[in-house]
Amino acid sequence: MSSITQAVVSPIQTIDPMNEHADAIQHIETTCAYCGVGCGIKAQVDTDTQQVRVIGDAQHPANGGRLCSKGTALGETLGLSGRLLHPEVNGKQVGWDEALDTIAEQFNTIRKQHGPDALAFYLSGQLLTEDYYVANKLMKGFIGSANVDTNSRLCMSSSVAGHKRAFGTDTVPGCYDDFEQAQMITLVGSNTAWCHPVLFQRIKKYKLANPNLKVVVIDPRKTQTCEIADLHLPIKMGSDTRLFNGLLDYLAQHKHLNQDYISAHCDGLETALEAARISSGELAFLAENLGLSQKDLSTFFEWFAEIEHNITLYSQGVNQSASGTDKVNSILNCHLATGRIGKPGMGPFSMTGQPNAMGGREVGGLANTLAAHMDFEPDNQDRVKRFWGGEQIATAPGRMAVDMFEAIERGEIKAVWIMATNPVVSLPNADLVKRALEKCELVIVSDCVADTDTLRLANIKLPATGWAEKDGTVTNSERCISRQRALLPKAGEAQHDWWALTQVAQRMGFAEHFAYQTQADIFREHAALSGFENGEAEGERRRDFDISELATLSEQDYNNLSPFYWPRPSRPSQCSAIQEDQGKKRFFSNGNFFTANKKARFVPITPSEPVNDVSLRYPLRMNTGRIRDQWHTMTRTALAPKLNQHISEPFIQMHPDDAVALKLKDQSLVSATSRWGEMNARLTLSADVRRGDVFAPMHWTGVLSKHSRVNSAVNPEVDPVSKQPESKHTPVQVSAFEGKRYGLLMRRVDVEESVQDKHQREQAQSKIWQCADYAVSARGEAHQLIQFASKDDELDSKALLETLLENNAEGLQYLSYEDEHKQNYRGALLDSNGRLMAFAMIANESLSQDQTWLAKQFQEESMSTRARAALLSGFAPAGEDIGKIVCACFSVGEKTLGKAIAGGCRSTAEIGSQLKAGTNCGSCLPEIQEMISAYE
Ligand code: SF4
Repeated sequence: MSSITQAVVSPIQTIDPMNEHADAIQHIETTCAYCGVGCGIKAQVDTDTQQVRVIGDAQHPANGGRLCSKGTALGETLGLSGRLLHPEVNGKQVGWDEALDTIAEQFNTIRKQHGPDALAFYLSGQLLTEDYYVANKLMKGFIGSANVDTNSRLCMSSSVAGHKRAFGTDTVPGCYDDFEQAQMITLVGSNTAWCHPVLFQRIKKYKLANPNLKVVVIDPRKTQTCEIADLHLPIKMGSDTRLFNGLLDYLAQHKHLNQDYISAHCDGLETALEAARISSGELAFLAENLGLSQKDLSTFFEWFAEIEHNITLYSQGVNQSASGTDKVNSILNCHLATGRIGKPGMGPFSMTGQPNAMGGREVGGLANTLAAHMDFEPDNQDRVKRFWGGEQIATAPGRMAVDMFEAIERGEIKAVWIMATNPVVSLPNADLVKRALEKCELVIVSDCVADTDTLRLANIKLPATGWAEKDGTVTNSERCISRQRALLPKAGEAQHDWWALTQVAQRMGFAEHFAYQTQADIFREHAALSGFENGEAEGERRRDFDISELATLSEQDYNNLSPFYWPRPSRPSQCSAIQEDQGKKRFFSNGNFFTANKKARFVPITPSEPVNDVSLRYPLRMNTGRIRDQWHTMTRTALAPKLNQHISEPFIQMHPDDAVALKLKDQSLVSATSRWGEMNARLTLSADVRRGDVFAPMHWTGVLSKHSRVNSAVNPEVDPVSKQPESKHTPVQVSAFEGKRYGLLMRRVDVEESVQDKHQREQAQSKIWQCADYAVSARGEAHQLIQFASKDDELDSKALLETLLENNAEGLQYLSYEDEHKQNYRGALLDSNGRLMAFAMIANESLSQDQTWLAKQFQEESMSTRARAALLSGFAPAGEDIGKIVCACFSVGEKTLGKAIAGGCRSTAEIGSQLKAGTNCGSCLPEIQEMISAYE
């Protein structure tokens, strides 16, 4: 076993010989908290000060030392402010025993009265595999229901379903190393530059060194990922299946099918080809249907047909659709038809959104899987039941995400335990989710932060350990399992989720089956289950997920475990589906699929239109997605001031011609309304979106904003196979927000904020939330910014300004400016040293102040006379306006970059050497390149 371990936690004596705390600094290898790339991190932890500094782990196979802006800023998100530190029952702080007894007692009562299906767990791709394993085992193996689903349903369940239909199992065939062995990479439905930045940088680096590499981007939007594209196909939203059916038909017509591979390893080609032929037609007809030029379409088809070493990477643009599973299978069909799968530099590849969506899949954390890549077939039920030793086991799939919360709303589910996720913000039709939880008898929420939209509706709040305290394993998109290690002691009374689950299980009467003392105990059992009756006996079907070699790891070996790829069976020769190349395992190059006859299945695809189509009333198609520097519902990333600089406000991106037709102005506030709800945001115009489409980010919450949760408006339609919601297509209308007063408030926030300052800040925020119809809050380096707008004609702006700046502390200087006629008011508070403490302004028109300059004033020890005058004029002094921040790492603004470009910088390298912009994580490089290209 020693070959898979290495020493990873060691005191470092040599970081800084002058540092008297040097012997208190530990160097710990762990994994990033955010996306499915699964980057390895080296953390330096000062055990005296609890400061954490992170850098990329050069030895980790996923990232080789690179980190994006979010990973780089992890150390800034670890403070105790805003943490949930104690259990609460019905608003009262209690001890863990009382909270756990209450949960166990109520679970048993509800189960007895209404049956096991009246209980549910809603989990998260942020959980560790060990947390997931215990939750799944308790619900499916002992409570007896399969009502255990996860926010990963929103992320990649269409890929899971597509894999299972084609391969018989949920298997990712390839690995990241394939990127550097490909001659063509097609990115479908993925803004990789923003959503999987380290993979994007890896592909970009390879392309720079290999200019012959063809990169194709298939996306209705022209995103930052197009920076490296040789060809961008801006297909009509939702038409992916038609495109890949067209490709399959083209491959057949032009004799590019790999007949040997197909006849040896696949079934069902003819019916798939027939469906592809029917939906495609002539190239010109197909191109028109897809909204593409015939030339671009035929270029893509020719490249795909001719280039053998060919990878198709896909992500949420494929998965988050009412036909997501069909989209996945239409891609898999093309790779199976050419035999380009599981070989170096070839294959379809699903990039998962979340850090441990794959780990959740491995334990069975989806309601339609049982455990360890087994589903609900009777022999699997029997096998898992015998392994776990429970008296009953779930016998059929349970409620899946959207369906689960609809069942809660109908009162069919009486109790739900939500862990590490925020469904009131992240699920579609989010207002229904909110209503459901308001009505639910028992809502338990485990979280590491104290205030989320979902926690506000909890009867029982359980403080969970956060990223820096958790300890266990995660699996990334390429089947690489890595350790996530604790860097800091548990905060307050926070506990690991697996521990809380174990304690509830014991109190419900299942103590002997949940006797885990450490996370390693759980991992060993998980590994053992993966190999249990897995193809050893004559005639027994083999399962892909098998890490049974690790079932007897010692505690020390578990602690020191290095990243490894699954499968890792106890008898390696058993799995004939695997080809191993330099330690990287690939599936299916020699067939041996996990179906009854070991052949892959082509799936005939009939393209379908989105279920909810546009109409006269809702004429625009709303697409949702991520932005560069925020993660999910911002509970962690919004704590890092650096990450709030790039985009600090929710926005809706629209084509300029649509804006003209709708009489909407760039940077004005607008409302997007659908049949399901409404959200407000700032309008940004861009020809990068197709006419008739709009794009809105998914991140903003009710805690950080008012009326800007995008999922209030998103339709709850789901894919019929995967049950993944159609988050990429909702018919909406966009109209002007009829604001009468617009304002902003900026208040100094010290690192160690006093209780009084915190109270005053919260009071000011609450006043704004009461009078505003739109508001959004963001944390800066030394301040908090709130932008707001009200539709109230009667609002007394001057009185509001004075209320917001009210401060009773002695020695503060109040500066103000007012224009009664224009109802334009500005005010500032300075302390006796001339430090800016607060600034507010209210006007009757939308504000366009330079917030970067204003933010910088809060970092100054004293304001100059010139700066004070500028403050009240509302504009930065000449030459000091750097514009919106583009490079978050070095705070380099748009205007500074513009000047450098105008001054002669013509490459990102030149910009880097002049301004440092883009030289750290590189996440901003696509935008800088775009600025250079636009100038040229
Ligand atoms: Fe974390 Fe960024 Fe790596 Fe994703 S790409 S794992 S967010 S550092």
